[in-house]
Parts: sequence; C-alpha cells; structure tokens
Amino acid sequence: MSADPPSDRVRVRRKRERGRYEREVVDAILDEALIAHLGIADAEGQPIVIPTLHARRGDVVYCHGSAASRTLRTLAAGAPACLTVTLLDALVLARSAVHHSANYRSVMLLGRATLVTERDEKLAALEAIVEHIVPGRWADVRWPAENELKATYVLALPIEEASAKIRSGPPLDDEEDYAMDVWAGVIPLASGPMDPKADPRMPAGIAAPHYVSGYRRPGSS
Ligand SMILES: Cc1cc2nc3c(=O)[nH]c(=O)nc-3n(C[C@H](O)[C@H](O)[C@H](O)COP(=O)(O)OP(=O)(O)OC[C@H]3O[C@@H](n4cnc5c(N)ncnc54)[C@H](O)[C@@H]3O)c2cc1C
Repeated sequence: MSADPPSDRVRVRRKRERGRYEREVVDAILDEALIAHLGIADAEGQPIVIPTLHARRGDVVYCHGSAASRTLRTLAAGAPACLTVTLLDALVLARSAVHHSANYRSVMLLGRATLVTERDEKLAALEAIVEHIVPGRWADVRWPAENELKATYVLALPIEEASAKIRSGPPLDDEEDYAMDVWAGVIPLASGPMDPKADPRMPAGIAAPHYVSGYRRPGSS
C-alpha cells in the first residue's frame, strides 16, 4: 500500500495506481537522476523550464547557477516552482499506435525555493552537487573562492509536496489487438559511462582516480 500524497495538488490523477509518495521512493529517483527540469512562470506569466543539475541533501533539493540567471532570480524572489526528474527505463512498443509508451520513474516536486545565503550551507550545497555528479570528486578540486561564491546562486527547494510516478511492465493494448501479428514488448534502456577522455591540457602523468576509471551511474549495480 502506497503512502498518501502530502497534498491534493500532488495526487496523481491519471493512472493513479502509478503514483507513489513514500519519501524513500521519491529520494531514490531524485538521487539516481543526473538532471532535473526546473519550471517557473516568469514575470510576465510565461512558463519557463530549464534543465539543470541538482542534488538532494536530506529534505531539500539544491540547484545552482549564475546569479544573473533569470530563472534562479525569479525563484529567489519567491516564485512557485516545479522541479521534475525522469529516469527512462524502457521504450514500450504496443500493438496499437496510441498505446506506445515508456517505462519510467519520475518525480515532481512543487514548492517555493529559498536562496541559500549562509556560507557553510552554500558550500555544503555546492559539495552535494559536485558529489552528485561524481562521488569522491569534491576532495580533489579547488573549492569556490569568495568571488565565485558571490557570483553563484544556490537555491534550496524543500521536499514537502512531492509525487513519484512509475510505469513498468509490458504494453497495455486493447484486448482485441492481442491477436495481431505484430511484435510487441519493451526495449530496455540503460545509460552508462564510456571510456573517460583526459583533458588535453592536463599535465602528463596524472592518473585517472578510481572514481573516474570506475565510475558507475547512480543506481547501477
Ligand atoms: C518519460 C515519460 C513519458 C511520458 N509520456 C507521456 C505521453 O506521451 N502522454 C501522456 O499523456 N503522458 C505521458 N507521461 C506521463 C505524464 O508525465 C503525466 O503523468 C500524464 O500526462 C498526466 O498528466 P496530468 O497533468 O493529467 O497529471 P495529473 O495526474 O492530473 O497530475 C496531478 C499531480 O500528479 C503528479 N504527477 C503527474 N504526473 C507525474 C509524473 N510523471 N511524475 C511524478 N508525478 C506526477 C504531480 O504531482 C501532479 O501535480 C510520460 C511520463 C514520462 C516520465
């Protein structure tokens, strides 16, 4: 039995059996996804969606970007936000055109973000974002200087109103179409790393650390 939605506006209505609201389900999808899409309405009410990196730390999702970013500035001013992440697990080939689909795990997070101004939290958020890209990286790199911190906005979106939606399994066709003489099923998809390519400007003799040579996608076994 799935948990109840934390609010009515995040209750999955279409295909409601695919809705999940448990924090561990939401967190696992947020943590496995490498990109998020952040949606707002701008000052004129125009909907804007930007793809962005993100990281979850406890009960918040952090996003960062230039202090000049229109989207981040609008969010920092208190605009309502919607953040989504999607993991695409398979293409679903049905017998009928309209039942083609995808197997996926997605999360939608609604709320208002706050601008992180406290220095330690800002650094911890940036560390979480770098570590979300590649765990182990933060310890090896130059940490942000004061001017870089100043030029960077970090926003924290609380995980309060969140829903997950999960589709899995074979196509769902109309009963009379199951007798059709056409291939139907799923094409599972996986995204994984290829061989790392060293920066040509790197001095010779620097070996790839284990977190590079042994990189695996979050969630992969
Ligand atoms: C890769 C992918 C492909 C998809 N392709 C299609 C498609 O081709 N056509 C189509 O109609 N739909 C598709 N969907 C599903 C789509 O995301 C919506 O769930 C669906 O369209 C219903 O939208 P709605 O606004 O009527 O949802 P409602 O059920 O009315 O939404 C109410 C609330 O449910 C939650 N919710 C809804 N959808 C999601 C979601 N995907 N993830 C997490 N929470 C959710 C939100 O909190 C939302 O505020 C796809 C989803 C994914 C991830």
